[in-house]
Amino acid sequence: MPTPVTPTVRIIGRPNLDREELHRYLAEIGGQDWTAHRPDYNDTQDLIEVAGRTCYRSFAAGLNPNVTRVRTDPDAYLGNIVEHRHGSVLEHAQYTFIIQNVSRVFTHEWVRHRQGVAISQESLRYVRLTELPFWYPEWAQNDPELLSRGQQILTALEDFQTWMADHFQLDRAGMPFHEKKAKTSFMRRFAPEGLATVLVWSANVRTLRHVVETRTDEGAEEEVRLVANQLGELMATEVPALFADYVIDDTGAWTTPHRKV
Ligand SMILES: Cc1cc2nc3c(=O)[nH]c(=O)nc-3n(C[C@H](O)[C@H](O)[C@H](O)COP(=O)(O)OP(=O)(O)OC[C@H]3O[C@@H](n4cnc5c(N)ncnc54)[C@H](O)[C@@H]3O)c2cc1C
Repeated sequence: MPTPVTPTVRIIGRPNLDREELHRYLAEIGGQDWTAHRPDYNDTQDLIEVAGRTCYRSFAAGLNPNVTRVRTDPDAYLGNIVEHRHGSVLEHAQYTFIIQNVSRVFTHEWVRHRQGVAISQESLRYVRLTELPFWYPEWAQNDPELLSRGQQILTALEDFQTWMADHFQLDRAGMPFHEKKAKTSFMRRFAPEGLATVLVWSANVRTLRHVVETRTDEGAEEEVRLVANQLGELMATEVPALFADYVIDDTGAWTTPHRKV
């Protein structure tokens, strides 16, 4: 019987600032006091701030004779970057996510985002299908007949996968791997678009803002919106100063006056 699943996003990689090396650099240029402002601050936000301040040598007033005043509050500094759409510094911070139990409907749309991303998706040429995990939105879960008919179809498709594996003798000793791969790829053609799969997906913070904005929009696809919302919630916790401008409206869309920084 196909297992109902729920799309989930997890962060498995994030920036890791080498503070000692950074401090040595700042000491060389006379900006060592900058670190005193942020004892509890986070690596991603500091990384982006360092990139931004490097542009104007604005770690302290007077380091650049053209700069007589600098913002010392990190949240205000980063808020100003977002407000002025200096989005290129956000590209220094890359996150990696496991996006699990998402359909191929989802992945097909998600991979359209090309800028600032890296994508690895489970291969159905190599990984043989033995079951067909599937996500039902809440409204579908509350429709017993729909659920029952849907499960019947999925069960038949699942049984067919098992039958084909036997029919093609995929577990026969000595079966050449290229043959196994060809048959496995043929078999996936009988899997539904809604089949749950997994992505390792990396994106920089500039891209993450753009994806959350476009993919929580009311017009976006239901499962895509669900994942984009989870992504937004994770990032709002990770980098609060860089997501502080968002307001979630009545439709669930993440809106900001500083769209696409
Ligand atoms: C609600 C919704 C409905 C959609 N419906 C459809 C649909 O019906 N059919 C369909 O095919 N797609 C559809 N899409 C997908 C959409 O057309 C984009 O392909 C997808 O959202 C990727 O976004 P992006 O183009 O901003 O690319 P990203 O890779 O996220 O790029 C980010 C930004 O970088 C810049 N950029 C990226 N690549 C280039 C480039 N080559 N040249 C110049 N600038 C570039 C652009 O400013 C772009 O916005 C839909 C998307 C949404 C959100």
